[in-house]
Amino acid sequence: MPASDETSEGRLQQVRTRIVDAAGRAGRSSSDVTLVAVSKTFDADAIRPVIEAGQTLFGENRVQEAKGKWPGLKQEFPDVRVHLIGPLQTNKVRDAVALFDCVETVDRAKLARALAKEMETAGRRIPIFVQVNTGAEPQKAGVLPDEADALVALCRDECGLDVAGLMCIPPVEEEPSLHFALLEKIAQRNGLQGLSMGMSSDFEIAVEFGATHVRVGSAIFGARTAQAAQ
Ligand SMILES: *Cc1c(COP(=O)(O)O)cnc(C)c1O
Repeated sequence: MPASDETSEGRLQQVRTRIVDAAGRAGRSSSDVTLVAVSKTFDADAIRPVIEAGQTLFGENRVQEAKGKWPGLKQEFPDVRVHLIGPLQTNKVRDAVALFDCVETVDRAKLARALAKEMETAGRRIPIFVQVNTGAEPQKAGVLPDEADALVALCRDECGLDVAGLMCIPPVEEEPSLHFALLEKIAQRNGLQGLSMGMSSDFEIAVEFGATHVRVGSAIFGARTAQAAQ
């Protein structure tokens, strides 16, 4: 049956095809690009068919919301993994380390230290990404580009964290490729492999700029309601 865009399974298939095509254009192997299906605002019943269609990696932006659906889904589907892609407050690191398989949003020393301490206590080490505010937007999370090298060093050397790479969310109004290129440059000079960049509107460009992880929500699950969208 051809992939239909009327179901999340069909849209998942289309996103996968578009990743393969974008990787091909960039002379990359699509196996080097990991799709993070962003399931925020969608409940377990909406997520289940996407897991059954073969997707094993998901992204959530709120600890509390994720806590309500993922423990049950992980019991049902032991292979699924979930990344935290939204801001993390230090008073929620215990829940975050217990629940998530990666925190993509480490953007300050205090959080890095709290995560390291909790991983030690819990005996559960998970990789992290350092989030870079490539557009230096005042309202946006992420370390400033100028301060990224120092934070990466602190995460690795002082905290002993497993830094998988860098993550960014480009400003909505700007050409994303400039931000993807900047993130790649910062990763390069820090010897980091992972680049989490690209969302529904720009994941193909991100793949062409070297993304190893694309975080795609609405192109798979459909539009989020305005109130919940973020
Ligand atoms: C919501 C979200 C996404 C996915 O956004 P879409 O436009 O729905 O693909 C990706 N990254 C982060 C950090 C998000 O919060």
